[in-house]
Amino acid sequence: MAERLFSVAIDGPSGAGKSTIAKAAAARFGFIYVDTGAIYRTVGLAARRADADPHSEAAVAALLPGLDIRFDYGPDGTQRMYLNGEDVSAAIRTPEASMYASAVSAIPAVRAFLLDMQRDMARTHSVVMDGRDIGTVVLPGADLKIFLTASLQARAKRRLAELAAKGDPSTLEEVTADMARRDEQDSNRAAAPLKAAPDAVLLDTSELTLNESIDAVCALVEGRR
Ligand code: C5P
Repeated sequence: MAERLFSVAIDGPSGAGKSTIAKAAAARFGFIYVDTGAIYRTVGLAARRADADPHSEAAVAALLPGLDIRFDYGPDGTQRMYLNGEDVSAAIRTPEASMYASAVSAIPAVRAFLLDMQRDMARTHSVVMDGRDIGTVVLPGADLKIFLTASLQARAKRRLAELAAKGDPSTLEEVTADMARRDEQDSNRAAAPLKAAPDAVLLDTSELTLNESIDAVCALVEGRR
């Protein structure tokens, strides 16, 4: 008999460590890691390239029918994003792409456009899916929901280290301000705002190392299986 599929929804603000933790937990259980932020980032990049106002529903919605967005996984489980056939996995990771992603993701037509793509993954695979509305909208029936958070200060420091490793010259002040702006935009939008599902387990990683955070998530998965 086919093994029953298992789904883990991890939501939380940017920089809480969701993607690193979700990816490691997925690898430990042989599940697929779905980074939904990367999908929104790809739409943001498309808006940027088309010179569309990312806050304009009409301008962004008009682009959607022309977008071919796909993703696959590299040998080490890294999710790669393709926009109209081009590998944009690196292009979607700039601070500018983050702001575009946050802006276009507030548009209901964008969220509707991407919904089936996300749900289809959980219909066909065991997944750890991370984002902002996975437990509330995309997979409301997920076997385990986690709301992963950390203080703004802890998140900004981690993001700064990631950017610095890539040679990005952003300062802590800039990263903190960007993150606070994105938190505000993601939490206060009308369409699928960032909030914990009522049945989500809250996990604050401010005082945890990366490995402790991964272990905590894996222990929650073990507990539910
Ligand atoms: O997770 P990441 O920082 O890559 O996400 C980029 C942006 O995409 C976020 O700021 C958020 O606005 C948006 N997003 C979303 N819903 C998701 C995942 C990401 O609105 N499920």
